[in-house]
Amino acid sequence: MTSILGRDYFPSEYPEWNAAQNWGIAILTSVIFFASVLAHELGHSVVALRNNIGVKSITLFVFGGVAQITSEPPKPKIEALIAIAGPLVSLSLGGIFLGIFFAADGKNDSIAGLAYYLGSINLMVAVFNMIPGFPLDGGRVFRAIVWAVKGNFISATKFATTAGRGVGYLFILAGIVQAFFYDNLSSGLWIAFIGWFLENAASQSYAQVAIREALKGIYVREVMSNDAPLILKRIDVQTLIDSYITYTGKRFFLIGEGEKWEGVVSLQDIRKVPREKRRETRVGDIMVPAAKVVTVKQSDELLKAIETMDTADVNQVPVLEGERVIGVLSRENIVRLLRSRAELKSAA
Ligand SMILES: [Zn+2]
Repeated sequence: MTSILGRDYFPSEYPEWNAAQNWGIAILTSVIFFASVLAHELGHSVVALRNNIGVKSITLFVFGGVAQITSEPPKPKIEALIAIAGPLVSLSLGGIFLGIFFAADGKNDSIAGLAYYLGSINLMVAVFNMIPGFPLDGGRVFRAIVWAVKGNFISATKFATTAGRGVGYLFILAGIVQAFFYDNLSSGLWIAFIGWFLENAASQSYAQVAIREALKGIYVREVMSNDAPLILKRIDVQTLIDSYITYTGKRFFLIGEGEKWEGVVSLQDIRKVPREKRRETRVGDIMVPAAKVVTVKQSDELLKAIETMDTADVNQVPVLEGERVIGVLSRENIVRLLRSRAELKSAA
């Protein structure tokens, strides 16, 4: 962005500027634009947090980032408020920068040039994000409206993601037209890429919601595997590999003695031990202690357990009953369940 501004945009808009001025303003403009996108995302996050919805991470992406929200909003109104907060921030920033432009125009070229560019691009960000295709902000507002009217989150998501895919295809088409009929390959490719990204994100969002729907009303105890023996701390890593992994293909082990579990060891921990050290290293030396392990309860809803696993970024968790460990829930368990259910459905 800095190079486009410094090499093309500012020199053609302000031919009287020297190179230092061009590049100085270009760098400053890029930094402030980046901060503007961040402010847009913070707009979403602040409203989400105020409504007690966790925001896992903020990923900056081309025209406004995608703030990942860990749980779905509980009410249409809250979803609409979270969605609209970002574009409102961009809109306000656009207004402020254009105000600065009008104040500085004719008095200070550098400030005017910078403010004009930032004003218009923030307005573009606001407009782009309000296109009513999920997962764009406008698509979220659209879903919230359909959700409020029809009272069904899943079918609202279907509507909004279908619109999102449509918008994605339109962008791809516009990109192709731009590239071949207007001979502007790089901007055509860029537009097509944004379209492709949108189409993808919309399909994935729908798939996610469909999975949530399929998993509703299922509890951890129905899916977990009970076959999770406690392995003694003093067993060495090589023995664990020889007597458990080679035969069972298990990737996750509970470590402890008697009734008391003390930690877990996963295949990843084992792979970190060099081959020649496997005899002398005990599983107790490489285990993650229980206090640091995320767990779920057997009476938890499966969806809640998946959210826990997502937030902690793990593929399996010990299942507890009180203090006692009674099994392991893994993503494999969940995938297998979904597959069997899908097969039964298609057979019926
Ligand atoms: Zn946004």
